[in-house]
Amino acid sequence: MPLPENPMFHVVYGRNLLRSLAETANPPYLIVTMPELLSMVKEEFEERNIGYVHFALSLDINDLENLAENLPQQINSVIGIGGGRALDVAKYVAWRKNLPLFQLPTATSTNAAFTHRIAVRIEGVVKYIGWAIPQVVYIDFDIIKRAPPHLNRAGVGDVFCIHTALYDWKLATERSMEKLWPWDPELAEEARKVLQTVRNYVDEIANVTETGIRILTEAHRWTGAVYHNAGWNPRPIEGCEHFFYYTLEYITRKAYIHGEIVCLGILFMSVLQDNDPEDIWRSIKAAKVRIKPEEIGEEWSTIEKALKLTRKYAIDNKLFYTTIHEREITDEIIKKAKDLLYSSQYSSV
Ligand SMILES: [Zn+2]
Repeated sequence: MPLPENPMFHVVYGRNLLRSLAETANPPYLIVTMPELLSMVKEEFEERNIGYVHFALSLDINDLENLAENLPQQINSVIGIGGGRALDVAKYVAWRKNLPLFQLPTATSTNAAFTHRIAVRIEGVVKYIGWAIPQVVYIDFDIIKRAPPHLNRAGVGDVFCIHTALYDWKLATERSMEKLWPWDPELAEEARKVLQTVRNYVDEIANVTETGIRILTEAHRWTGAVYHNAGWNPRPIEGCEHFFYYTLEYITRKAYIHGEIVCLGILFMSVLQDNDPEDIWRSIKAAKVRIKPEEIGEEWSTIEKALKLTRKYAIDNKLFYTTIHEREITDEIIKKAKDLLYSSQYSSV
């Protein structure tokens, strides 16, 4: 079987791209950003015809609909400037109002700039809906380097998840529990190559070098596109490591840094899968992703509660079949992952 074609979003790398964007998008525009980025945005867009600045604080479907339906004036284009949430809110407005979209991620924290869908929350549950293709995604090296390094490093989560996702995909196929997207060895191999490339450059990514930014962005471009281009097949890029993230967010209703929780999920689920957890943990550690509960501001008891509830969450929300459906998160599994997390034997790679 030939691989599906995988056309990806247009991306441009460079510098001074925010300033150029102010002269590119058709005004008046809606700028979707975060409060902490307002001064940077104002500097570049000052005295221009900015339609409206919206702070992306919520991905709740009702809040998003409200925003789209109550835009204060005529808007001719939408500009997303920020991390995953800002880019997703920008996508939502562009989709609902049929407007041209320009995306400028300020960190490499997620693949949100490169996916058609928007990760909305409906009563706290994540659903991927919509359709938005940006005119272009601008990657400004100077802006990315200004972001807190932990945000940039967290972006490996949406690539390292291929490690646990592929295991789940194969398992589900073997159990005859995957009717829509049976295991495709060639597509899996492509995904594995993307994963390996990022793993090969993990030090560059940890240090947020220009090479690291490019490698990670190109991987996000691939993972973002393949979901749609393989027929909305999430299997190569999502498994029970993401289900853990959804469950944790659901029970606490907190906004986490996506990739940090996904990486914690990869550690636990690769232990559960007996899928070479030491190996993928080496890469997470080398990328310097924060995943210890004390680093991400969460209690161990809450993490454990989410882990033990992940199966129920997956079944209640009819998520696809994964390891979590058939293996118990025992205290022994948790201890094994915890021991790895606090071991120092992998400090140098
Ligand atoms: Zn993700």
